[in-house]
Amino acid sequence: MPTKFRRLGLLVAGLPIVLWVCGTSTAATRDAQKTVSSTTVVIDAGHGGSDRGGIPGQKIPEKEMTLDVAQRLKALLAKNGYQVVMTRDSDVFVPLPTRVAIANSYSNAIFVCIHFNSAKRAGADGIETYFYGRDSLPLASAVHYYVAGGAPSTNRGVRRRGYYVLRKAKTPAVLVECGFLTNPTEAAYAQTVSYRQKLAEEIAAGIRGRSLVTKAPGASTRVATAESIPLQSYTDQTNVRSSKGSRSKRSHKRSSRSKSSTKKKSSTPDGPEASTTSKEREG
Ligand SMILES: [Zn+2]
Repeated sequence: MPTKFRRLGLLVAGLPIVLWVCGTSTAATRDAQKTVSSTTVVIDAGHGGSDRGGIPGQKIPEKEMTLDVAQRLKALLAKNGYQVVMTRDSDVFVPLPTRVAIANSYSNAIFVCIHFNSAKRAGADGIETYFYGRDSLPLASAVHYYVAGGAPSTNRGVRRRGYYVLRKAKTPAVLVECGFLTNPTEAAYAQTVSYRQKLAEEIAAGIRGRSLVTKAPGASTRVATAESIPLQSYTDQTNVRSSKGSRSKRSHKRSSRSKSSTKKKSSTPDGPEASTTSKEREG
């Protein structure tokens, strides 16, 4: 058979496969699109108004950094087709219960709280991501995977802790600490527009990729794509006992733990955030 015909034969034989592949990917794309458009992402920029965030004497106001990253994230997600709601979109104080109530008013929401860390020890550094409910772990894993992977900082890991906003959320909720504003290097990064944009992009990638988290590295539980995200191991700090009574009160003032847990810290159930907490602890 002349080569020309043989090629034609191959071409025709391959056509159904091509069509099938195209059909599949179109359906997958449609499903993904549907998921995106039906998901409301509630973005919570930590602190605001009279609550500056961070530790006393801290030069860079955490509330400004969190709002900037939150607004960048909002723009990115909106462009991706997500419904986006901000718990605050300006420099105002919003009580924690109000923030959670906003998230809980959407049944299909995911709740993403953005913070920066701080510690008395200038050397404390790194990225950490918190979650509380088990159904929030895939989201925490995915967000942490991207943010920690994209930041030139130490990976402090995924942590489970009962912060108020995480504990009270009825939807998957995470709190990401985007680095230490008290660390000279991380503070310098945080003060650049490009880095804050990068943080927003990584958080957005985590949100988009949360359904690709696989149970264990190598396990193909879910989609067998090249981009499955390994489930991050986490440290459960929810029931940690206080080793010594006195940790810096500042740091814990914001952490809220379950009522059963004891006071290692002077924790009030309302800390907007987690931030300060852990770092001091390790720092
Ligand atoms: Zn904070």
